[in-house]
Amino acid sequence: MTVLCLVELDEGRVADASLRALRLARDLAGPAASLAVAIAPPADPAALGTEGPVLAELGDQGVATVLLLETDGLAPGAYAPAALARGLASATAELGAVLVLAPANTHGQEILGHLAAIADLPFVANCTTATWEEPGVLTLTRQRWGGSLLEDARLAAPAALLSVATDAVTPAPAVTPTTPTVLVHRYRVEAGELDVVATTEPGESGGVALSNARVVVSGGRGVGGPEGFGELEELARLLGGAVGVSRVVTSLGWRPHREQVGQTGTKVTPELYLACGISGAVQHLAGCQGARHMVAINTDADAPIMARADYAVIGDVSEVLPVLVREVRARKERAGR
Ligand SMILES: Cc1cc2nc3c(=O)[nH]c(=O)nc-3n(C[C@H](O)[C@H](O)[C@H](O)COP(=O)(O)OP(=O)(O)OC[C@H]3O[C@@H](n4cnc5c(N)ncnc54)[C@H](O)[C@@H]3O)c2cc1C
Repeated sequence: MTVLCLVELDEGRVADASLRALRLARDLAGPAASLAVAIAPPADPAALGTEGPVLAELGDQGVATVLLLETDGLAPGAYAPAALARGLASATAELGAVLVLAPANTHGQEILGHLAAIADLPFVANCTTATWEEPGVLTLTRQRWGGSLLEDARLAAPAALLSVATDAVTPAPAVTPTTPTVLVHRYRVEAGELDVVATTEPGESGGVALSNARVVVSGGRGVGGPEGFGELEELARLLGGAVGVSRVVTSLGWRPHREQVGQTGTKVTPELYLACGISGAVQHLAGCQGARHMVAINTDADAPIMARADYAVIGDVSEVLPVLVREVRARKERAGR
């Protein structure tokens, strides 16, 4: 028996959301099943290496087999959801996998959606917990309504697909590390499955991807306009983080949609989330409620974000941010960093 987990790489490491999905996959595999991963978008085998950090990280997670999905016309790093789902369907059949898990981020949800259609398998999205009630029967909890509602469910199926909420499961190493075997899994795509191919764009703030950033400096309408984001970018750069925004900001065309945090944007799970001029609508909080610490800068002491923030600065972002940037820069210079 095999449990297969979809893993994404970020800057040559296993992405944080994938480590969380792997934790649940390993718990479900238990001692009875073997844990395999497929890297998607596909990694360059040369870059992966046999001694590289990725294999060591996957070994720490107890992974037995690493599959490199390969098909003609899909270069390493390229993202083609239908083609990758076809590769996973083929790998699932070959391994006899009873479960396929993926992080519940944009790529994971999209690929599992295609896989459900191709392989005719049930797909439970946004799981926070899953345990075997008996062989073939799972008890699950999953997030609904952007995480504001938790639903308990029972799934009886010989095989199933689960996406794992990116802010729910805590990553942890396996008790017994492994030395994973790397296998190239070649498969054939069907007509139209390479029609949508995208290359991954790195984040704009020093190359840190928003979904994996440990610090997110987010701005809303209160930033005042596109020019106000210069200070946020600088603060994100100084803190080694990424810039996020509210939907109002993308709707007004101040910043691109890929930076949007929330129910219809990216879900983030940073150590620190700095909300600048953001009211804290429920749809925004759906994307950042997994932050470990939240700081809000807002002129309105009664803004809804205050109910979630650990620390608040009641003030104008155009006055507070330059002071913060100056102070962080000075402290980094004093520390020689
Ligand atoms: C189906 C649906 C999906 C949605 N998905 C998302 C989503 O994914 N992400 C998302 O963000 N939103 C989403 N929204 C929109 C959401 O409901 C809010 O409208 C949006 O988050 C508000 O953005 P904001 O906080 O920037 O703006 P506002 O609500 O206008 O808040 C601006 C805040 O800035 C403060 N402020 C003003 N001037 C200053 C200043 N100079 N200094 C400091 N503070 C200042 C104000 O006090 C206020 O609190 C969605 C809505 C719907 C209906």
